[in-house]
Amino acid sequence: MAIYLCHEQPDLYEHGATVLDAQPGAVLLSQSAFHPGGGGQVGDIGTITGSNGPVTVSHIEIDADAWWHVIDDSDSVLSGDVEVHVDAEHRLGVASLHTMSHVLNAFVFDEFEGSLVTGAQINSDGTGRMDFDLSQIDNDRLRALEGPVNDVIARGLAVEAVYVDATDAATVEGLVRSLSVAPPPTDDGRLRLIDIAGLDRQACGGTHLTNTAQSRAFKIGKIENKGKRNRRVRFSLS
Ligand SMILES: [Zn+2]
Repeated sequence: MAIYLCHEQPDLYEHGATVLDAQPGAVLLSQSAFHPGGGGQVGDIGTITGSNGPVTVSHIEIDADAWWHVIDDSDSVLSGDVEVHVDAEHRLGVASLHTMSHVLNAFVFDEFEGSLVTGAQINSDGTGRMDFDLSQIDNDRLRALEGPVNDVIARGLAVEAVYVDATDAATVEGLVRSLSVAPPPTDDGRLRLIDIAGLDRQACGGTHLTNTAQSRAFKIGKIENKGKRNRRVRFSLS
């Protein structure tokens, strides 16, 4: 995995770019602050403005190293210099849910002795879910974690991305906690970790807040049994 521009500059929502290639309904840019999504997290949305005005980007399709910005207007042909605009509100909503899913994950890992995540999804409609490898536990114990997660929002913990050597990271228990959503190392063998001060460190390539206080209140919804060993916890922000 390359290091994304949105990883290097998480506050960059507007920038110029040059169209490298275009086809009906999709465009390839010289640079992009869009997060393409992945690991269950929905990508950024936004606009690209060329000489004929803005077109809406619905998502990114990755083809080898090429990021095709899929646009909702197949008649527009973009070329030359353009302005890229990432929807900040959408980014914030997704980053909030995603960051709070790390916090929930940390509490589940502690409370249920090293229980791993088997799947996760963060949607654009303000909802998300995580699946945990948990059997024979009372769902009320899972639901009771809503309070501690909201305490973390109230405490305003700093959230930081750090890079460590992937070989070293593999030896730290609990660092790569997810069975399915951990990102591959970067091209130079480093692993991107999201550090929530004093609470959690976790390998992840998604978008996150810089402080837990930026999140709205966290709410646990339905908890379902998915097979013998899996619990699905649905959540949203209120
Ligand atoms: Zn993450």
